[in-house]
Amino acid sequence: MAHLTVLDHPLLRHKLTLLRDKNTATGKFRSVAREVSMLMAYEVTRDLPVEWIAIETPLESMKAECLSGKKLCLVSILRAGNGILEGMLDLVPSARVGHIGLYRDHATLQPVEYYLKLPADVAERLCILVDPMLATGNSAIAAAGRLKEAGVTQMKFVCLLAAPEGIEAFSKAHPDVPIYTGAVDRQLDGNGYIRPGLGDAGDRFYGTR
Ligand code: URA
Repeated sequence: MAHLTVLDHPLLRHKLTLLRDKNTATGKFRSVAREVSMLMAYEVTRDLPVEWIAIETPLESMKAECLSGKKLCLVSILRAGNGILEGMLDLVPSARVGHIGLYRDHATLQPVEYYLKLPADVAERLCILVDPMLATGNSAIAAAGRLKEAGVTQMKFVCLLAAPEGIEAFSKAHPDVPIYTGAVDRQLDGNGYIRPGLGDAGDRFYGTR
């Protein structure tokens, strides 16, 4: 079983309520999702390595902490993952960014890759894979597998909402990849939507329905 962290903060829960509310309009949805993503980035980067460097304050010399090692890489599962990317980049602007495009084959219901662009040295970086909804888990499982094929050994998965079914499937496929989510909802419905959920995240982000 992959390690599951349900981010527990009143601000986050309040903002998730706004995202769930069908009366939240597209612009507001996007700006709140950006805030939520920033809060999630804060949590998911809690254990980044640091080193001590010598600096001068206006008053004296001191040793102070700064992040060490390679910059992390945020990887968005298109298209809804991009809605989370922006808020995370607000907090870690120097992060590298990769994109994975997947669509669901109607016959097999399996994800098919149509786009992949990753930093050349992605294998040496901590990757944070983002997709707002961990529903069946199929896309996240395929994307994490693709990153592993590219040599990635350190990875975390971040979503706004998760279904128990998605958590189980993802954990089984990638027990080494910790999951961070804003909430675990009741169930997946027959159409693959998370209930109660927030609807189609891509449509909510981009106003396409
Ligand atoms: N994808 C979405 O956008 N919403 C869901 O509820 C499930 C998958």
